[in-house]
Amino acid sequence: MKRAMKRDMELTIGHLYPDLLNLYGDRGNIACLMKRCTWRGIHARTIGFESEDEVDFSALDIVLLGGGSDREQMLVCEKLKKIRRDFQDYVEDNGVVLAVCGGYQLLGKYYKTKDGTIEGLDLVDIYTEQGEGRLIDNIILKSPLCEMPVVGFENHGGRTYIGKNRPFGKVLYGSGNDSESGCEGVLYKNVIGTYLHGPLLPKNPQICDHLIKKALERKYGSADLAPLDDRQEQEANTYMIKRLMR
Ligand code: GLN
Repeated sequence: MKRAMKRDMELTIGHLYPDLLNLYGDRGNIACLMKRCTWRGIHARTIGFESEDEVDFSALDIVLLGGGSDREQMLVCEKLKKIRRDFQDYVEDNGVVLAVCGGYQLLGKYYKTKDGTIEGLDLVDIYTEQGEGRLIDNIILKSPLCEMPVVGFENHGGRTYIGKNRPFGKVLYGSGNDSESGCEGVLYKNVIGTYLHGPLLPKNPQICDHLIKKALERKYGSADLAPLDDRQEQEANTYMIKRLMR
């Protein structure tokens, strides 16, 4: 039974450049955010900003930046320069961000590929360099953000170096940021950067709720999320962990 909470709360999700950064159905993360809000009686809406649109960060509570190929990242990098200052103000003001794979790389200073260097937003003190071969597999992490291990899928040629920043999780199975450090992703203020593609939030509802909670706390000062029935998600999580960690 999905329980309702206060009716007058609302969240606006900004989806940046769905026309360019849209690999592996990253859009499913938006559907999950929307559903888990509406099941609780929180009004949720999504604004998609295509590459030519103006972005008004003051109207946004959660920002999603998806994954893309090197070619698309190169194109997006030009657009990002225009919004960099406003995006930075949003992040420093504890704005909630989920940046996946190509989007995660773009949060940093640069992404150096064999065809040139893509300038990043420099919102988080990290950088990425293309390595030998791609890191492609399922992945399992232990994240400080939730009890359930985080399960997902990664596919990236870039290796990301996060310096002294906190990782999104410790790798239990898979490669993560660089296949050596044992770390995956990055946490900075209310930003999550991660290589976990596709249905990250449907597979890991606790991460979805973490983002909703942080966005509500920023907007309304507090958040008390009613629990939802996540038995199926829990079973799917357990299945993957048993399958991969045998
Ligand atoms: N182009 C980047 C890389 O290969 C990110 C790819 C992606 O978003 N899957 O590292």
